[in-house]
Amino acid sequence: MENLREQWLILISTPVYVAIILLEILLTNLHLKKTYNWKEVGVNLYLMLLNSGIDLAFRIVYLAILNYFYQHAIITLSEGVMYWLALLLAEDFLYYWLHRFDHHIRLFWAIHVTHHSSEELNFTVGFRSSVFQPLYRFIYFIPLAWLGFSPVNIAFMYSATQIWGIFVHTELIKKMGWLEYFMVTPSHHRVHHASNPKYLDMNMGMFLIIWDKMFGTFQAELPEEQYGKIKYGLTTNIKDLNAVNLVFHEWKNISADLTKSDITFKDKLGYVFGPPGWSHDGSRMTSQQMRNHEAGLVEKMKVEQPENSSHLTLVPQLVGTQHPHEI
Ligand SMILES: [Zn+2]
Ligand SMILES: [Zn+2]
Repeated sequence: MENLREQWLILISTPVYVAIILLEILLTNLHLKKTYNWKEVGVNLYLMLLNSGIDLAFRIVYLAILNYFYQHAIITLSEGVMYWLALLLAEDFLYYWLHRFDHHIRLFWAIHVTHHSSEELNFTVGFRSSVFQPLYRFIYFIPLAWLGFSPVNIAFMYSATQIWGIFVHTELIKKMGWLEYFMVTPSHHRVHHASNPKYLDMNMGMFLIIWDKMFGTFQAELPEEQYGKIKYGLTTNIKDLNAVNLVFHEWKNISADLTKSDITFKDKLGYVFGPPGWSHDGSRMTSQQMRNHEAGLVEKMKVEQPENSSHLTLVPQLVGTQHPHEI
């Protein structure tokens, strides 16, 4: 019965996805904007298939682990409106932290980076999954099972909020009025996919933006005349789009860093568990350092060219070209 619920969700959401993608293609063509890059779309769908395959194969294992904690739950909950509301809030909160750690620990960034590697933003990028995330996502949801939420309901709620998570990958919808206050919107998620320093590692939420506002990772999308155009993708984009490289390129970078001859064990830990962009000799920059660097440049411009201080659009590009370090 419960499994049926998730199947219904897939049955209903699939034609909706197809419809919004077709609508997006139609509208972008009508507005004579750049159309879909079909090679990128192919990559997005390929990564989705890989992710779904791993999720399906591993599902029996993670549901069993969650079930163990559910059997030892500290509370017996009965399903009602409050139950589903609490599950939505708690799961979205835990996903926020999963996503935040994915961005701040290089080992997990190496998995999540595929979701950010597209230089375009359209609905199909929502399907460009972090292929191996299903192998560890459930760990974040263990507290839910231990609190008395059934594993099947946890999986169902994740799939349900993910529908919204896919919907926010678009340039078509500018702002969503009062929803901007508490929901993750396309405007918020455009910021999340941007490589401009001020936007890096911001807006981690899947369904609600309140967690970012509470924990200091919220950044509104700024008008182009104030901060320049959004540049999607990574601070250094991947040239080789072959399937293996797309999924494993950051693993290769980690392994290259670990085999450096002049580094200590502590440095090695830094290369695996430190933030992306960390280096033992300071030759790269983390996103925080890029932000600080950009802020420094802005201050310098204000002092040196006060008449131009309102035109800061050159700054992101300047930072990108001077320090082409992938984060
Ligand atoms: Zn992300
Ligand atoms: Zn995204």
